[in-house]
Amino acid sequence: MTHELPNALNLRTDKAHSARMYDFYLGGKDNYEADREAAARVAASYPGIFVCARENRAFMHRATRVLARDHGIRQWLDIGTGIPTKPNLHEVAQSVAPDARIVYVDNDPIVLVHAQTLLNSSAEGRTDYIRADVNEPDTILRSPELSETLDLTRPVVLSLNALMHFVTDAQDAHGIVRRLMDALPSGSALALSHCTPDFDPETWQKVTDIYNQAGTPVQFRDKAAVADFFAGLDLIEPGIVVGHRWRPATEDGGADREDGPAPSDADVSLWAGVGIKP
Ligand code: SAH
Repeated sequence: MTHELPNALNLRTDKAHSARMYDFYLGGKDNYEADREAAARVAASYPGIFVCARENRAFMHRATRVLARDHGIRQWLDIGTGIPTKPNLHEVAQSVAPDARIVYVDNDPIVLVHAQTLLNSSAEGRTDYIRADVNEPDTILRSPELSETLDLTRPVVLSLNALMHFVTDAQDAHGIVRRLMDALPSGSALALSHCTPDFDPETWQKVTDIYNQAGTPVQFRDKAAVADFFAGLDLIEPGIVVGHRWRPATEDGGADREDGPAPSDADVSLWAGVGIKP
């Protein structure tokens, strides 16, 4: 499917955006001066941010492979997709299951600009893209792109990687995840990663202040609050752990981390887990 870009797509390049800051952490080129300035401020307080971003991406790869290979799931709803980064989720899923179907969702116009990259599906599978806000779960669930691509009577992975710390308690972050999981059948999964202040509260207060000052409200949560996202689900092994400890590459035959010393929990500062809906 071809997505037309609206004429007046306003990227607001004068303002730092979370998707473009994250692109900078990953060494991408789709970022602007305001993004790089804010990202550099984060890195000055928290040099681990580059490791965190890389390990977050690697967790997504491993979780996707495990769910496709060991749990036989063939459908994904990935919200907060980010600017395309090789490999994207559908490339990982379709490398295991060529017929995998993925619906991507992000609210940042920069992701829409690159959406075509997300739509290069395998011939047997299918992908689509919805520009929408996770704060409006019903808009996502009712969108025609979703029902044309995914069969909601069969298991779906709800993939929320490094997204929910951009949704505060005042915005009912936990209620939103519950609403989305309620719409999915038994056997569906929640794959979620979330930055945490648990290992270095002082640093993460600084990171919080930088995002808030840049106009992006954030709420980095402790392990108990992250565990609450999985309420009612059966966590698969090893439960909720720091991102790089979730089934490291050697265990699942992948090769996401190059040989070298494992990063520290404080550098990664990311809780990650996968739960299955009974
Ligand atoms: N999931 C990817 C990207 C994480 S960066 C990964 O883990 O590698 C966070 C992404 O969430 C950004 O692309 C940002 O634009 C998006 N995002 C932030 N708030 C959002 C919201 N309210 N609704 C939808 N997407 C959002």
